[in-house]
Amino acid sequence: MHPLELATRTIDSGEITEPTNRVTNELTELADGLALVESFSHSAVLATDEGLVVFDASSAMTGAAVVDSIRTWSDAPISSLVYTHGHADHVGGSFAIAADAAARAHDRPTVIAHRRLDARLDRYRLTNDWSLLINQRQFGGIPSDLGLTLTDGRTLFIPDETLRPDVTFDLSHSFTRGDTTIELHHARSETDDHLWAWLPEQKWLFSGDFIIWNYPNAGNPQKVQRYAAEWAAALRTMVAQGPELLIPAHGLPIEGKERIATVLNDTAATLESLVEQVIAMMNAGETLDAIVHGIEVPRDVLDKPYLRPYYDEPEFVIRNIWRLNGGWWDGAASRLKPARDADLGAEIASLVGGPEVLIERALELVDTDIRLSCHLADLAGWAAPDDAPIHAARSRIYDQRRATEPSVMSQGIFRAASRESSEIAERSR
Ligand SMILES: [Zn+2]
Repeated sequence: MHPLELATRTIDSGEITEPTNRVTNELTELADGLALVESFSHSAVLATDEGLVVFDASSAMTGAAVVDSIRTWSDAPISSLVYTHGHADHVGGSFAIAADAAARAHDRPTVIAHRRLDARLDRYRLTNDWSLLINQRQFGGIPSDLGLTLTDGRTLFIPDETLRPDVTFDLSHSFTRGDTTIELHHARSETDDHLWAWLPEQKWLFSGDFIIWNYPNAGNPQKVQRYAAEWAAALRTMVAQGPELLIPAHGLPIEGKERIATVLNDTAATLESLVEQVIAMMNAGETLDAIVHGIEVPRDVLDKPYLRPYYDEPEFVIRNIWRLNGGWWDGAASRLKPARDADLGAEIASLVGGPEVLIERALELVDTDIRLSCHLADLAGWAAPDDAPIHAARSRIYDQRRATEPSVMSQGIFRAASRESSEIAERSR
């Protein structure tokens, strides 16, 4: 189905009848001179009298297929490449755009991005192995597609040939290609180098990851700081422009001024509500424990087809709001300078009569209080790091935990915990 038609049907009915986040690498024309390749991430392509303007280059794994799709639509040179932000799935495929330019004897595109993007790419190089590791864990503890393995055996999170920005800006930047004016606006949100693009004459909005057809990725447990309040403010600014077509970097493009305003405003409202509640509780002197367990997003918000907590989830956003405004310490005195996990596990195990007692109780709790069950399973595992039956049980508990969780991030981390223990159980058998 045409992505605009699917978006309209899904938003207007409130029901998901078909997947909204499609990675087909197929190109669809959205309007005269505008096309979208649905991938991980998408690339949006604008045809002007001075070549193509491409928004995002997709990932290292999908970039070449995306370029092939663009080439079924136009042979014009790609004159500009705009990065909405520096995440691997938005810049990693840029080497394929460079290769396409070389093969066609075109000039390389001018790459335009926020000024902080370069530093992000430097950080990814510095933390290459960590970045591969957390992405593996985020997507389930299995060797991930998100890296490029070289002939010398090194795996790179971001390819060395990734195009660096030629033009950078701080708050906003405007340029023209042919008779098309393109405005870029920066706001901290998912990243500190994010931008959204606005075509004032057409009223087209390129929203990057501000909208992803999932609950906003503002909490990610393994990543650097996210900025919920500024994110929400940027969404309100977008609404004020009156966009008539919204092209996100994940999920479906959306048409219709009111429909777009609803999606932008609903997303802003849930972020604003979390920020307001967390700050109020912080000001009241509450601990992170009280805050995490005291705030809930209403079910009808999470049921909206563009706010489902299937990737990130509100509980993690709450933690990031705390971290941004209050540091990493959670307010529990013993966790300021904690004992080793192994020592805590061994001590509690010896008090209750052995790690077997802990894991037995963990198994009893698995259906009634799985959060508590996982704590006991961890303590048992730390107390008995090589014990096959205990780790086999811990692995089963985390398998069950994974099955009860909505988000990719929770599922991935719990799946990785299950694997970690099943490997110990195998080894020790
Ligand atoms: Zn993305």
